[in-house]
Parts: sequence; C-alpha cells; structure tokens
Amino acid sequence: MQEKLLQFIWQHSLYNPANLETTDGEPLTIISPGRYNTDAGPDFLEAKIRVGNTMLAGHIELHVNTGDWHKHGHQHDDAYKNIILHVVHTDDAPKVADHIPVLELKKHIPATVLSGYASLENTPERIPCSRQLHTVKDITKESWLSRLLAERWEEKLQTWHELLEQSAGDWRSLMYWRTAANFGFKVNATPFLMLAQSLPLNILAKHRENLQQVEALLFGQAGMLNGTFKDDYPNALKKEYDYLKVKYKLDPVPAHLWKFLRLRPANFPTIRIAQFAALVHRSLHLFSQIIEVYTVKEIEPLIDVTASSYWDDHYTFDEPADIASKKHLGKSSVLNIIINTIAPIQFLYAGEQGSSKQQDKALQLLDSVPAEKNNIINQWQDIGWKPANASQAQAMIQLYNQYCTQKRCLECSIGLSILKN
Ligand code: SF4
Repeated sequence: MQEKLLQFIWQHSLYNPANLETTDGEPLTIISPGRYNTDAGPDFLEAKIRVGNTMLAGHIELHVNTGDWHKHGHQHDDAYKNIILHVVHTDDAPKVADHIPVLELKKHIPATVLSGYASLENTPERIPCSRQLHTVKDITKESWLSRLLAERWEEKLQTWHELLEQSAGDWRSLMYWRTAANFGFKVNATPFLMLAQSLPLNILAKHRENLQQVEALLFGQAGMLNGTFKDDYPNALKKEYDYLKVKYKLDPVPAHLWKFLRLRPANFPTIRIAQFAALVHRSLHLFSQIIEVYTVKEIEPLIDVTASSYWDDHYTFDEPADIASKKHLGKSSVLNIIINTIAPIQFLYAGEQGSSKQQDKALQLLDSVPAEKNNIINQWQDIGWKPANASQAQAMIQLYNQYCTQKRCLECSIGLSILKN
C-alpha cells in the first residue's frame, strides 16, 4: 500500500462504507470525506463524521501505518490539532491521542481496487491502461479531454504571457515570434525563436517590400551567411546583409544551433527560413488579419507561402538538388501552425479582451482542424482511441506526456473510472 493510493481511495470513497468502526469499537459514519489538501497540513480538510452519537467536523489525516504519525512528526505540529479522524491502512501502533479516533481501512478496501491499481502500476506498457481503456465510457473520456486541452493551453499560454511582457504587450511581436518558432517546428523551434527575437519587427517592416532584403536579414541573422559562396544568390544576400547588419547593429544567432540531421530536405531550416521570409514579404499585418478569421479556408491563403525561386532546385546554399520543385509551405504545415500558434493566440487575445465568445470561436477553429499524425497519436490509435479532431489530439498528447508516461493514473479521470469499475 502506498499513501497516495490510500488518499485516492479515501478521496473517491472507493472503500466499502458498511459497518465502519473505530479501533475502539465505536460505529463510524463518514458524512463528508473532506476536501483533498494539496498544500502543507492535514490530508483532508473540513470533513464531517459521526462517531457513535457524536458529530465531528474538522480535518482527517491518512497514513499507511498508525506509527507514521510520529515518524512524520505531526505531534509537534499545531496544524494537526484539529484532526477528527486518523485513517490508516494498517493499525500497527497505539492511538496517537485519546481524542483522535482511528479507522483501519484495510479490510474495507475491495480487492478489485487493489488489483486494478497493481495492473496500472506494474505494466511495462507506455500507456498503462491500454488493456482497460475500452471499459471507460466515451463521455468520461471526452469530458476529461476537454479539461486536458484547457490544461495544455494554460501551460502554453503561461509562457506566451511572459513573451508578451517582454514585448511590452505588443501582440504583433508575439505573433511574429510564435509564428517564427512554429516555422522551426519541433527540431528548430528554439533557433527560429532566437532569430526572430534578434531581429526587431520594425526593421523587417522597413524592408518588407524587398524580398531579397528580407531574406538577407533572416538568413544573415540565422548566422547562415558567414561563409563564402559560389552561387550568385547567397553572395547577393551576404552583400545585402553585411550592409544591413552594420546599419542596424545586428547580432546574429550562432549558426551551429540549426539542425539539419534526420530532417527531410523539405523541412531543412534553410527552406523554412525562405518560406518565413515569403510570409513576412507578403504581409507584416498577419496578427491583425489572423485574429479575426476563424476558418481554415480563410486562414490558409494568408499563410500558405512558397519559398523564392532559388529554392526550387536547392535545399542548402550552393548545392543543386537532383529534382526541382516549388517549396510550398503545404497544407499539413498550415494546419500545424493553426493548431500550435493561431488558435492559441486567438484564445489568449480573446481572454485578454474578456470575450468568451471569441474564445469559443478559437476553440471551434481547433475543433474544425483534423487531428495531426504523430507518434503519440499513433500509440493511442493502436489501442483503439482515435481523436475526432485537433482539439482531442492536443488533449491526448497532454494526457500521454503529463499523465501516462509519468504514471499519474490516480490523477486521471480514466484511471478513476477503471478503478471504480
Ligand atoms: S494516466 Fe490515465 S489514460 Fe494514462 S495510462 Fe493512466 S489511466 Fe490510462
């Protein structure tokens, strides 16, 4: 028995409540188990019980063994003065005080709860409940996913709030930074964000209409124009950048931060930077345009850009590709940017404006996007749970990363449902 399981059993009343009695033999009724306390102090606050004919209100402390009370030093802590019941799994020592009744819970815990927990705890599967998941009702799973999406966005938006503060509340800069990070996708998100943060939007604004200058600024700040080149195109960018760098006192990010290894050439940071330059060239007013459109159909033409013609037959400078092709951003990247940048920014902005109606629209936008395909979603699908849309997929990623792989089944609605069954 672990204390966290005992607390879980108590919190969700998973024990058999019939014929409860204290270790002194007095009948005991639990009217309210109390509120689970995640801070310091007793485990459950403001509980209500009846011992014999006496009603008691106060806090409840749980331990695996009665003797743990002294081991944890509660006898010296005033926070434990208002304890009305000491719940233990095994009563292995005398009562800690005459006025604190003890309930030994061991014999009231159904064997199915213990075996259910053991099967979640001891499986080598990456998703421990993979064999029991089919027993959980759809409504339980769906409402849990809604809460997980909120949790995922809260975490994400917390870091974005910090970025917003860095930009002195400038939403255009936030959009610029986050879109840039998104263009780096998973592997190059950090150098892409550093690149955008090293290159103020107002400098790009001055050169927006000249694509070559925008490319020079972005490739130069990416640290990719330091070498010597054979082709005219990188040489022209280098010449442009050398001038602009001095003019604006720019400091590039280290080139070694960019990762090419194990990426498909179409995802090379060179291609993504060229596409990002095309996006900046197309419009610097992306934020004001994006913030008011809530359908994929409207957003797609705003961000589906194509890299300049040099990249038709190159993936890196000076190295011609075998097959020529236009380097469009592409539908799946557009959807990825809607999922990871546009819908969350719309949600955050609507929250700042106090508009729950606009927040609902941002959520509906995410609902309208198909679920992305990745390794985590594949694992869920392999055990028979397919996300209906991007909202559910995002929530399932949160569930996998923050709960399943950390074995937090006792904090998960699905885990609760399995143990209740
Ligand atoms: S955390 Fe929840 S969904 Fe994940 S394995 Fe445990 S019970 Fe299943």
